[in-house]
Amino acid sequence: MKNRPTFPVLRTNFWQIMKLLPLRCPQCDTWLQPQQLDVVLPCPTCKTAVYLQENGLGTLPVTCVAPQNESATTWLPFWRFYGRVHMQRDTQGGGRGGQREAAQLWGKPRHFFVPAWELPIRRAREMGSRLVSRQPNFQPFTPPEAPLFQPATLTPADAQKLLELIILTIEAQRSDWLKNLQFRLELGAPEFWLLPARPQRDDWELLPALA
Ligand SMILES: [Zn+2]
Repeated sequence: MKNRPTFPVLRTNFWQIMKLLPLRCPQCDTWLQPQQLDVVLPCPTCKTAVYLQENGLGTLPVTCVAPQNESATTWLPFWRFYGRVHMQRDTQGGGRGGQREAAQLWGKPRHFFVPAWELPIRRAREMGSRLVSRQPNFQPFTPPEAPLFQPATLTPADAQKLLELIILTIEAQRSDWLKNLQFRLELGAPEFWLLPARPQRDDWELLPALA
C-alpha cells in the first residue's frame, strides 16, 4: 500500500487540471480531496462512492461482501465483471493436461474480480489469478454503516487491461509448452465491489480468506 503503482495508468492533462479544481460530493456537497490517481473515492461525510470522470462527478452503486468471523479494518475496491473468455491455445508436443485445464477453466462464464486500488502489479496479478481460478462465492451484504474504502485508481477500462494480463499469467503458468495464445473477452457491465480486509505487514489480507 505504500508503493506507488507500477501498472501504467494513462491520464490526460485535462484530467490532471480537473483534479486541481474544487470538487464536491454530488450527494452531500462535502469538499473532496482526491489524490492524483484516484478514480473512485468515498465521500468522507456520507460515504457515497464518488466516481471522477472526465465529464464530471457521478455516484456509483457499491456491493459489499461480508467479512467472515472478524471485523474488517478497511474495504478494498474491485471492478467485478461477469463474462467469458474465448480462447485459442496451441501447444508444442507434450501432454494435454494444460489444454484440458484451460478448457475447463474457460469453458463457462466466470466472475472476474480485478483489484482496483494502488498495489504493485505483481501483487495485483497474484490476487487476480487466485480470484479467477478459485471463483469464491461472494455473498453481497449490507454493512450496518456505509464503509469508508481505499480509493480506486483503475478505471473499468484499465481493469479490463489488467484482467487480460491476469489471464495471460494463468495460461503462462501451466506446465505445458505454450506456443500460441489468443483470446477475446466477452464481459458484462463493470460493477464496483468492496471486499473487507485488514492490514498485514506492507499489504492487506482479504477477509474472507481465499485459501
Ligand atoms: Zn457526501
